[in-house]
Amino acid sequence: MRIILFGPPGVGKGTQAKLLTEEFDSVHISTGDLLREAVKNRTPLGVKAKSYMDAGNLVPDDVMIGLIEEMLNSDRARNSFILDGFPRTVAQAKALDDMFDRMGIKLDGVMSLRVDHEEVVRRLNNRRMCRTCGRIYSLDHLKGKELTQCRNCGGELYHREDDMPDTVKHRLEVYLKQTKPLKDFYRQSGRFIQIDGMQEIGYVHKMILDWIYRNRTQPHIAD
Ligand code: AMP
Repeated sequence: MRIILFGPPGVGKGTQAKLLTEEFDSVHISTGDLLREAVKNRTPLGVKAKSYMDAGNLVPDDVMIGLIEEMLNSDRARNSFILDGFPRTVAQAKALDDMFDRMGIKLDGVMSLRVDHEEVVRRLNNRRMCRTCGRIYSLDHLKGKELTQCRNCGGELYHREDDMPDTVKHRLEVYLKQTKPLKDFYRQSGRFIQIDGMQEIGYVHKMILDWIYRNRTQPHIAD
């Protein structure tokens, strides 16, 4: 299964990607997670990316394209992946198409999730992330010690700096200007579907699965 999950911040791409990864034993490629890990470990990539991320801006295309190319060089990732947070610009999408051509990769679908922007601000204000394992939670579903401690690994939950309302507003502007135009790019591919991300998690997952099973093609064999 080779899928791109597309949509604004806070739409539920990460949550849906994790569910799909379990369902299809795919590799979850989240560029945001990869960058956060690099920042945490103070690698050259992390040092370069940090100021862009803190300000809610996009990390330059050449850096991101190099990162994805490196990820897709592993056989396991190449066979089955859920791309979450990439591509985010038309230049990234074109570079990805070139990579797929060179590697003999055929994409199964681009799922675009949509939510109202007020809901994005609300969700990100309530979103908490585990510092250790990266699991995502919503305050809507937490109480007691779960508010600060990860249910999965016991790590500390924190509110991402770029999930604060002012930065979220800026990230949404960046999304509208630089990322949303990609919808037209992928709409022409014929394997594009828009899904209502306002629905609850299980329902959105089911809609994605329904689409996948209706449109599933034969297993891909690289040329
Ligand atoms: P995310 O966790 O996907 O919301 O990503 C967090 C931040 O990482 C974004 O606000 C960007 O600064 C950066 N980032 C993640 N993916 C990309 C990408 N494909 N292109 C540029 N910047 C990215």
